[in-house]
Amino acid sequence: MRNDYSKKSPEKEVAGKQMHDLMRRLYPICRSITGNGLRETLRILKEIIPLEIREVSTGTSVFDWTIPKEWNVKDAYVKNTGGEKVIDFKKSSLHVLNYSLPVHEKMPLSQLKEHLFTIPEHPDWIPYRTSYFKERWGFCLSQNQFSAMTDGEYEVFIDSTFTDGSLSYGEFYVQGECQDEVLFSTHVCHPSMCNDNLSGVVLCTFLARYLSEVKPYYSYRFLFIPGTIGSITWLSQNESTVGRIKHGLVVACVGDAGKPTYKKSRHGTSIIDRAVLQMLRHSGKEFDVKDFSPYGYDERQYCSPGFDLPVGSLTRTPHGCFPQYHTSADNLEFVLPANLGESFGYYTKVVDILENNRTYISTNQKCEPQLGRRGLYNQLGGRPDAEIAEMALLWVLNFSDGNNSLLDIAERSAMPFEKIHEAALLLEHYGLLREKHL
Ligand code: ZN
Repeated sequence: MRNDYSKKSPEKEVAGKQMHDLMRRLYPICRSITGNGLRETLRILKEIIPLEIREVSTGTSVFDWTIPKEWNVKDAYVKNTGGEKVIDFKKSSLHVLNYSLPVHEKMPLSQLKEHLFTIPEHPDWIPYRTSYFKERWGFCLSQNQFSAMTDGEYEVFIDSTFTDGSLSYGEFYVQGECQDEVLFSTHVCHPSMCNDNLSGVVLCTFLARYLSEVKPYYSYRFLFIPGTIGSITWLSQNESTVGRIKHGLVVACVGDAGKPTYKKSRHGTSIIDRAVLQMLRHSGKEFDVKDFSPYGYDERQYCSPGFDLPVGSLTRTPHGCFPQYHTSADNLEFVLPANLGESFGYYTKVVDILENNRTYISTNQKCEPQLGRRGLYNQLGGRPDAEIAEMALLWVLNFSDGNNSLLDIAERSAMPFEKIHEAALLLEHYGLLREKHL
């Protein structure tokens, strides 16, 4: 046997509940592309998986980019003349424009207005806005809050700091039997929002824990990074070993109730693309498939031409396509445990396909072996899927000429991968099949 990948993945319902509990804990923290909120998040994940927290100093060059100053915010508010806080960062981390300059001034509403962001079409929701590369300050608030603000003077306070610090990211590596790697990458820089992207963070955490408890064939690398600058940083610092990545997925927006959506790698026909499509085709659910485009999450960096890694992205509703996207409505009620559990199931099925996709050679290349004499038909008798299982045996026997992997055979036969895999194991047990190169 090539590996001992036999432990059953956790029940989806249990995983979904655990993921949602972790999400609830991470939700209030004010994260950004650098700073203590990001670090605290990684420290909490470390309680579940022993990930390495890496720090890259401000000013470090990473390809065409430079690690920015570290941003931290302790408090922020806007007070009216009565001393009442009409906007309070302590109530939602979204209230501060992410990467705001510090400010402490009094000003009339007419002047303050230029620094306020709302979503008029959703008057209860607070938008999420950032200003990483333009020096300014601002507040995000609901349209209703804004409408209630009367003319007059306001005290504006943002207690933020920009320092020569570092950019933090988390890395967790599961050593498999071989050095070839599967990459799972997720962005961990967004403040209090659940689908984008605490859902990706918690799914990766529990997938990592699961894989660290089995003995996989592949090695698995999990990256918990700030979006864009994080993947650029990691690629820049690991250029010499990036070639070990044979398959990869960017994990984001996996907690809403929408149908699964797969965005292909730049190649479009890599094993990872085929494995995800195989899983989706036999999931019994509706799904969407999109070709690669140079817009989206960190697949943009992994699939840049100088790396061109086989990395796709498996989400539910894609970014920007659900109204709650980048608002306070992307909250703990929008993302349900059942949806997280279902997404976890999609990911573990993809891992199953990658782990079990082997190439076999039939020991009877001239004509079919006599299956009845070996009791193989009896093995299948009585099963509700006996006919499918028998058909799978014939497909595996015929196409196991050393040139077709089990995934090739599953695609060609239009049968679910697990049926083809099951048939291969049975034939191997009876000595009718041997793994290539073994
Ligand atoms: Zn986002």
